[in-house]
Amino acid sequence: LPAASGLAEMGAHWIHGPSPGNPVFRLATHYGLLGPEAAREENQQAEAGGHPPLPSVTYGSSGKALSPRVVSEARDLFDILLASARAFRGAEELPAPSVGQYLRAEIARRVPALGGSKEDALRLQLAILATCLKLECCISGTHSMDLVALEPFGEYISLPGLDCTFPGGYSSLPDCMLSALPEGTVLLNKAVRTIWWRGSYREEGDKARDFPVRVECEDGDTFLADHVIVTVPLGFLKEHHQDFFQPPLPERKVEAIRRLGFGTNNKIFLEFEQPFWEPQQQLLEVVWEDESPLEEPSADLEANWFKKLIGFVVLQPPEQHGHVLCGFIAGKESEYMETLSDAEVLSTMTRVLRVLTGNPHLPAPRSVLRSRWHSAPYTRGSYSYVAVGSSGDDIDVLAQPLPEDPEDPRPLQLLFAGEATHRTFYSTTHGALLSGWREAERLNQLFEAPSPA
Ligand SMILES: Cc1cc2nc3c(=O)[nH]c(=O)nc-3n(C[C@H](O)[C@H](O)[C@H](O)COP(=O)(O)OP(=O)(O)OC[C@H]3O[C@@H](n4cnc5c(N)ncnc54)[C@H](O)[C@@H]3O)c2cc1C
Repeated sequence: LPAASGLAEMGAHWIHGPSPGNPVFRLATHYGLLGPEAAREENQQAEAGGHPPLPSVTYGSSGKALSPRVVSEARDLFDILLASARAFRGAEELPAPSVGQYLRAEIARRVPALGGSKEDALRLQLAILATCLKLECCISGTHSMDLVALEPFGEYISLPGLDCTFPGGYSSLPDCMLSALPEGTVLLNKAVRTIWWRGSYREEGDKARDFPVRVECEDGDTFLADHVIVTVPLGFLKEHHQDFFQPPLPERKVEAIRRLGFGTNNKIFLEFEQPFWEPQQQLLEVVWEDESPLEEPSADLEANWFKKLIGFVVLQPPEQHGHVLCGFIAGKESEYMETLSDAEVLSTMTRVLRVLTGNPHLPAPRSVLRSRWHSAPYTRGSYSYVAVGSSGDDIDVLAQPLPEDPEDPRPLQLLFAGEATHRTFYSTTHGALLSGWREAERLNQLFEAPSPA
């Protein structure tokens, strides 16, 4: 994005729920990294349920902006249904195994009342509801809400506060945190190949000290340790756990890794010479008017991948970023997008925007930039969700340190942190941060505990 600020968040975008209960917000405030809006009390107290109501326009595929009243009608219904999907924690009997199946059944039940029983209005309501489902796919980082388990869905906690961004980029936070550490404490670009545990390793020239863990890097360097906190993404674990740990992980842990969900959500940034949107608009949403949540979406990725895109956030403020839209797209369509060239993505996005705005001469964006989280070898997706067939217990199993036996004379050899190990804040930066603190505290407790006589 040549003309823009040079700042494009390829990953985390917002602090979700910026309020005192959020450690990312607390740290960001402590380091003075947030804008004045985020610091306001009212901002911190607002209950937005994870989705701040940004001033928006919704484009329909017939090339016209849809009536805000019609859009709100469908959205309000979806919000009610989504809230009801969070109420099945601990339920013995479930109406459906997945959030998607539950929501679609609830929508189907309401069809007679939708759109005031007018055929066209009903079709539009269903099309908007289809967009709502796609937005949820982005939020859950999944291909389909049919993959997200219904029973544990309500375990995820949304903190109060209107989501905010870091004016200097998300990385300004780790930069501040790192500056407090002695230089060389953190080694970047140092991929680990294998973590050997339950071993007996000695440093060259120091035969007295015996370590249970040896971390072997791809460049051949090794590090001996008593304790290792593993924070690689669940996507990486899914692909590599068998070789990454020697000896392999216990079956219970492997099953949790296999069952928990880890999908893809990507961003597509488009930079424009001039905005085609109104200055007050911060969110451009997209509705394909022939879609319905009650029909199977097209499996022809090549022909239809772009229809999974939910719309665009306008990067704010334009004085800093230029005229840049950030689109979000989840699932298999997103993974397909990763296989295309920049030129192909740019030309498809131009075509889509021309259809949506009804302007066949809309100038093409001057540049495109997108994330490719599924292809990224050390990530293999975006973030975790609790998939059908798994539960919050699997998150706790994933977080469980090894060896499992608390009486083991060499405890806490492997500890596990990262967003996928936090039962109520998975998929977020604050979940990741808290999980790291949790494991650090586990070690603190061990070091403070009186040694056995
Ligand atoms: C598109 C997108 C948008 C998002 N938006 C938000 C948002 O708005 N707000 C929010 O709170 N969260 C958001 N998230 C989620 C947030 O980014 C994650 O929850 C968070 O970064 C997880 O932190 P982590 O430390 O668990 O994992 P990561 O940040 O993935 O860190 C894991 C690290 O392990 C490294 N690694 C992997 N394998 C190895 C290896 N073999 N050797 C050495 N290192 C290895 C990886 O390279 C990576 O640096 C978003 C994520 C994506 C993808």
